Amino acid sequence: ISFAHFGFEEALMETIRRAGYSEPSGIQRQAIPVALSGRDIIGIAATGSGKTAAFLLPMIVHIMDQPELEKGDGPIGVILAPTRELADQIYNEAKRFAKAYGLRVAVVYGGASKQDQFKTLRAGVEIVVAAPGRLIDMVKIKATNFKRTSFLVLDEADRVFDFGFEPQVRSICDNIRPDRQTLLFSATFQKRVERLAREVMTDPVRISI
Ligand code: AMP
Repeated sequence: ISFAHFGFEEALMETIRRAGYSEPSGIQRQAIPVALSGRDIIGIAATGSGKTAAFLLPMIVHIMDQPELEKGDGPIGVILAPTRELADQIYNEAKRFAKAYGLRVAVVYGGASKQDQFKTLRAGVEIVVAAPGRLIDMVKIKATNFKRTSFLVLDEADRVFDFGFEPQVRSICDNIRPDRQTLLFSATFQKRVERLAREVMTDPVRISI
């Protein structure tokens, strides 16, 4: 099975080739078709598995399918990450794929200029990669909003708990339309992750590699 099996448009196939990805990884093979069908996913996969592209590629297809794409300036896709390092990694990969369609991507986290992040968000974005606390701050100061948001990713959910970000993640989930598509990735599947998944997802498909 190759990336061509997922039915991606040529523009996206080109960015995948440019990234040097010749064939999909295990998690990509399993998660991409399910995500493209619109289902929620709990993916048990560690860093290095290719999980980032497994959620980014379906997110980009989802965004391009939005009839309201031209309207509004808040993100259609939101990715929550527990650390700056992870957020930056996701951001870099997102920019690479988003280029196919000229989608705008922003990254926000604490410890970096709030003013710069405010300006970037205000200019309009389709994808935001964020640490939960800073994203809440940005919504509070009206730099952005979740009106257009319909695709949410919770990456490294187990570490979200380790760092104590669970209340912020729940608060963000509560403020995004409930008929969104939600993908949760975690290296381990503990009780607390399972409980969070049950509360913020709808009939998720469980995938582990
Ligand atoms: P991740 O698990 O998402 O952090 O990805 C680990 C590394 O594998 C990153 O450097 C990706 O760019 C790379 N990668 C992801 N998918 C593929 C693929 N299908 N083929 C080759 N490299 C990949």
